Amino acid sequence: MAATLSATPAAPASLAADTGARIMAWADTLAAHTEQPGMLTRTYLTDAHHGAAAQLTEWMQAAGMTVRRDVAGNVIGRYEGTEPGAPALLTGSHFDTVRDAGRYDGNLGVILPIACVAEWNRQGRRFPFALEVVGFAEEEGVRFKATLLGSRAIAGTFDTNVLDNVDDSGQTMREVMRAAGFDAAQLPGAQHDRGKVLGFIEVHIEQGPVLLNEGLPVGVVTAISGATRYIVELEGLAGHAGTVPMDMRRDAAMAGAEIGLYIEKRCGGKPGLVGTVGQFNVPNGATNVVPGRAVFSIDIRAGVDAEREAAVNDVLAGIERICARRNVRVQLRKTHEAASVPCAPWLQAQWAAAVARQGVPVRHLPSGAGHDAMAIAAIADVAMLFVRCGNGGISHHPTETMTAEDAQTAAAVFADFVEHFQRTQ
Ligand SMILES: [Zn+2]
Repeated sequence: MAATLSATPAAPASLAADTGARIMAWADTLAAHTEQPGMLTRTYLTDAHHGAAAQLTEWMQAAGMTVRRDVAGNVIGRYEGTEPGAPALLTGSHFDTVRDAGRYDGNLGVILPIACVAEWNRQGRRFPFALEVVGFAEEEGVRFKATLLGSRAIAGTFDTNVLDNVDDSGQTMREVMRAAGFDAAQLPGAQHDRGKVLGFIEVHIEQGPVLLNEGLPVGVVTAISGATRYIVELEGLAGHAGTVPMDMRRDAAMAGAEIGLYIEKRCGGKPGLVGTVGQFNVPNGATNVVPGRAVFSIDIRAGVDAEREAAVNDVLAGIERICARRNVRVQLRKTHEAASVPCAPWLQAQWAAAVARQGVPVRHLPSGAGHDAMAIAAIADVAMLFVRCGNGGISHHPTETMTAEDAQTAAAVFADFVEHFQRTQ
């Protein structure tokens, strides 16, 4: 897509040239808060998690923000506007991690805005609105098998059933919260009032290779993809691998393999649509047995719901056809279905303008992964900026990486966005 280049493509004057380097150094400092020495693992309300919260609080306060922790453990820094108490533009991301994680997933979207606020604070610059930077306490769902805890608390959509979920040591979430000084009964109070939120923007590492392959430092997210998941069980007829002729077999694994290849073909060649068979089991399979059973998963995602639904329908029809021809019985169980969350066009337009003003071509792309913005969409219009992920786009892995130069560009885009921000809807 052609970019509208500004006459003055330089970074906002407000941003120091070493902001990117500072963001990278902060990511390193934050990564030291880990449960497992030698790797980064920081799950909900562990000592490492509290340590990271304390570090974020310190940076936020030094940047001129008033900081509070809400009952879900979110760290919320508020940079007042020209009029105290004004509605806020919300930004942020999560500071929990997966096990043996990369250091930028989530964390980047918390520290990058703090670095920008620090610059504005140094210059005594305020905006006609407040800016709130949120470190969401939990997004990944590692400790209690429930995701988006922090952002759901703020959105008022926290499912209190998950308070009884237990961690590996058998403690419930409710007990762990109480021990940390958080009373789960107060969770409804964490909800932000829709009328006081102007919008939510999230900066996040892409966690994929698209920007890297196209040589672009940042991209504007169009939507967080919806997803449909199935578990498929096929039943054919087991038989002796030596004695049953090929044309007389009812091989469940080969039916599954053909279905997998059909999914790959159907979801291929269409940007934003992806289909994956991530688990494939041949129960009690043996070298010398024709497989009588196969069990596998299907995960289909797209930024546009109609495209996902069309693909799912074609895949279901394909399964029927393949199984009928192969005389294999099929049982389908839908395990998950979530609609896509579109990024608000007016916020996307302001991201795009900020990107173009840095002299960077504007690339729009959907997010195949879930993010806190998904939950916040319940109380505000949301939009996201992706930052190029190095090393082939690998994420949820210690080799996840990005450059200080891209951190600088992303910070410049973020600062420019805020400095030009206007609520137009
Ligand atoms: Zn993340």
